[in-house]
Amino acid sequence: MPEFNEVKISRILNPTSIGLGDFVINPFMGCEFGCLYCYVRGNRVVSRKNKPWGEYVDIRVNAPELLENEIIKNKPKQVLLGSTTECFQPIERKYKITEKILDILNKHKVNFVILTRSPFILDYLPLLKAGFCRKVYFTLNNFGQKFKAVLEPKSPDFKLREQAINTLIGEGISVVPYFSPVLPFVSSLKDIFNKFEGAESIELECLNFNLPNIKEIINKINLVEPSLQQPYERMLSDAEFYINVFKNIEEEIKNAALTAKKRYNIYIHNFGGYFKNKYEK
Ligand code: SF4
Repeated sequence: MPEFNEVKISRILNPTSIGLGDFVINPFMGCEFGCLYCYVRGNRVVSRKNKPWGEYVDIRVNAPELLENEIIKNKPKQVLLGSTTECFQPIERKYKITEKILDILNKHKVNFVILTRSPFILDYLPLLKAGFCRKVYFTLNNFGQKFKAVLEPKSPDFKLREQAINTLIGEGISVVPYFSPVLPFVSSLKDIFNKFEGAESIELECLNFNLPNIKEIINKINLVEPSLQQPYERMLSDAEFYINVFKNIEEEIKNAALTAKKRYNIYIHNFGGYFKNKYEK
């Protein structure tokens, strides 16, 4: 059980250059799901905490009251929810911070985009259907339970996420199914376009081998499939191999998309690039 702390903050609307909004909103600091590959683990503020990522959640209890005034002052055109946390994690059911935030955004006619991997978002359907939810990026995956158990044991079940995506689409919400992280030699890509008939496009993000904890991630993957040790270690040191592996994945996606007549975007991190966390706040 993570440690839950009620905290007061001085600002809830934070400017961003991410491109999905001019401001971000994060109702919590921390996340109960604690995915091992979470890019927020490299966040400066998080690394100053004395507890590991996934073992605490700061609940920003005054966020809704701040938001009212900050909307009037900053006049946001579009905000992004959940850049460094999961807005629909289980503790939200008790505090309803995200619910209040969505209500205020709707009241002030502020467009919003949501990043999530939680089917609990379905509880807020009326708030999503009020006309200001521009898009939901819903992260899911399809690697088997053994890999899930070592990489994201506490995150919601993949099947439930698929169902939630299709329910949202059926309700008229614009949803982008976002497959992440695509694991080389593990992720099955051939039928991802058939699962979400109503989705305009599908996006994929490949595993970031520049994450600060990549060795730990590789060690966990090796626990499930020891034969992956050698190629995964090679991805860290052999640029040509790295580029070829992802080129093949990209080709596979391109062909699957052509067959399904679907649009897609795939994000491949540069070999040996420094890990840049654009989602600091
Ligand atoms: S659900 Fe999102 S914010 Fe939470 S740990 Fe996983 S990747 Fe990070």
